[in-house]
Amino acid sequence: MPEATAPTLTPVKMSRTQIEARALEILRSHGITSLPIDPVTLANREGIKVHNAKFSEENLSGMVAKRGSDVTILVNQSDPPFRKRFTIAHELGHIYLHLQSDGEFVDTQVDLFRDTGETADNLSPERAMEVQANQFAAGLLMPSELVRSQFQTCSRVDELARIFNVSEEAMGIRLSRLGLG
Ligand SMILES: [Zn+2]
Repeated sequence: MPEATAPTLTPVKMSRTQIEARALEILRSHGITSLPIDPVTLANREGIKVHNAKFSEENLSGMVAKRGSDVTILVNQSDPPFRKRFTIAHELGHIYLHLQSDGEFVDTQVDLFRDTGETADNLSPERAMEVQANQFAAGLLMPSELVRSQFQTCSRVDELARIFNVSEEAMGIRLSRLGLG
């Protein structure tokens, strides 16, 4: 183990439900409730910079770095729009859940995008933080109560995906998680 010069980043002791509630609370506190949710608007209102970046490693989707009040998200410029939105929401999860002190996360495609239904229990701290950031991202882009209320008038996955500006795959997973699929 290298000697720690900064506090080690650790998973939060929060359930999926609590993490999703936190995401919704943050949206509400900024008055962001219309669909589709724009994670860049949220970041900007928090003073977080979001930039497209060209990464030398192909499988990198994004990263976030916090240095004091300077917080920057970089997103892979060649990723498709759905993926960029999810990446930004995932990095926001790291910011709200894990970056209480300075630090950074570098995310590859395997860290991201897919909400596999894993729980953060019994995982390595590193993997648990990725799962938590994905839970936050799903809760941010597809808040459960907004999905449920939209589902009342339209139950088509493609249509809901369009309304929330997420991939059909992501919406399909979300619906089944909410018991609507
Ligand atoms: Zn991550």
